Amino acid sequence: MAEPFIDGASVEFSGLDRMTIVDPSDGEEVGSVPAGEGAEVDQAVQSASAAFPVWRDMPAAKRGEVLGGAAHAVLGAVEELAPLLTAEQGKPLREARLEIRRFVHTLEHYVGLAKNIRGGYVPDLDVDTYGLIVRRPLGVVGAIVPWNFPTTLLGNKLGPALITGNVVVAKPSDTTPLTTLRIAEIMHRAGLPAGVFNVVTGTGPGAGQALAEHPQVRKIAFTGSTPVGKKLMALAAGDLKRTTLELGGSDPMIVCDDANLDRAASAASVGRFFNAGQACLAVKRVFVFEDVADAFVEKLAAKVRRLRVGPGTAEGIMLGPLHSSGGRELVEEQIQSAVDSGAEVLHGARRPEGDGLSEKGNYYEPTLLLEPSHDSRVATEEVFGPALPVWRVGGMEEALELANGSIYGLGSSIWTADLNRASEAAERIEAGYTWINSPQVVYDELPFGGWKQSGHGKEHGIEALDYYTETKAVVVRRAT
Ligand code: NAD
Repeated sequence: MAEPFIDGASVEFSGLDRMTIVDPSDGEEVGSVPAGEGAEVDQAVQSASAAFPVWRDMPAAKRGEVLGGAAHAVLGAVEELAPLLTAEQGKPLREARLEIRRFVHTLEHYVGLAKNIRGGYVPDLDVDTYGLIVRRPLGVVGAIVPWNFPTTLLGNKLGPALITGNVVVAKPSDTTPLTTLRIAEIMHRAGLPAGVFNVVTGTGPGAGQALAEHPQVRKIAFTGSTPVGKKLMALAAGDLKRTTLELGGSDPMIVCDDANLDRAASAASVGRFFNAGQACLAVKRVFVFEDVADAFVEKLAAKVRRLRVGPGTAEGIMLGPLHSSGGRELVEEQIQSAVDSGAEVLHGARRPEGDGLSEKGNYYEPTLLLEPSHDSRVATEEVFGPALPVWRVGGMEEALELANGSIYGLGSSIWTADLNRASEAAERIEAGYTWINSPQVVYDELPFGGWKQSGHGKEHGIEALDYYTETKAVVVRRAT
């Protein structure tokens, strides 16, 4: 049993339905939380509103100190939090530890920026007159987070929101609220003031929508699917809330004929199959120059064959179960569409056989597909699971046209020894991130956010601070 975290404490609400949280590796119950609605969300928003003036007016360096202490306490609890994350999400324990450390790393990045929040000064506007550009926090920020990286994606919002003086009401996914609730508790015990960071539980259409519609919420910071992002943008339009929308993706990877094929194959394998393929930023479509296609595919297939599938708590497992049975069924349908369109299955395309794995949890084998048609579902839709399609291309023009022929524009990568080619691709690929000869690793130092239907606004970098503050112009004339 776990309860929403409001005003610095776990709060029990009687009379609400409870949502059962299950372990995707075996379907066993790992906890339950109440399905909060408007009244519970309102209580959290009122708590945040009450905490706002004190947090806002605290010296920025002090806010940094408090947030740094809270982040440090979470780091100290990695060994408690990682098994909880694995239990509710399904990911291997090693990845769960990485995720909690990543959450802390992101908060520390913003702690480092606490003393660098800047406005502006404009001299000589007029006689005896100058201008100031003043930067102020927004107020209550609603953070709505999905289940694939429940904590890091929360950290991406919590860090810039809190360091700039905002207060937060978070709504984790219905299926992964437990680690977030525990983190809130740990951060408050370590000194975060009551009401500064609240967590409500409930479904998207219940608690999520109530948060998006609440008149005292000034911004919705959302990570999730593109269809829900569109709904939230419409809801937020009701009172013109600010939005940051980090949505789906179908990242292209271009492998040129002069690429380091070993490194590219390794980046494709990790980039697609990390978190069992359930990542927004993930290599989801590979376009390889035909001269090197056979050699590249052979190297990639060898890596994919070595990936071990099993429960996240077992040693040496690279792919845990998919998070939900519905998610596995969707990936199966998308793979079937690829096979029906003529794709050659180089590996996988089935549930694992033996060990009774498939009966226990939502396991699926890492799948490598060669040349599905360009209108099959793996080419046109986001594939949120362990399936990677590869296509041969005649050269850069064709690769760029196919790469950009998607409604999405999140990440992308190019592998080539020719920096002219690389810089052309970096300029022409329609995506918020392009990696050149590098695995798709997100750096806190660089702004990240999608183009096209992958969303708008930036997280990470110093740029994220712009999305959690308003600037205002102030004219100062000397009193005479
Ligand atoms: P989802 O859109 O179904 O849900 C995300 C969150 O929104 C959950 O907390 C959910 O309860 C809530 N929600 C759902 N309906 C709502 C509504 N009507 N009103 C308010 N809130 C609502 O996404 P998911 O299945 O949890 O996550 C997978 C998706 O997230 C994928 O599309 C993936 O690409 C995307 N994603 C994007 C990024 C990024 O940074 N761009 C990162 C991770 C995941």
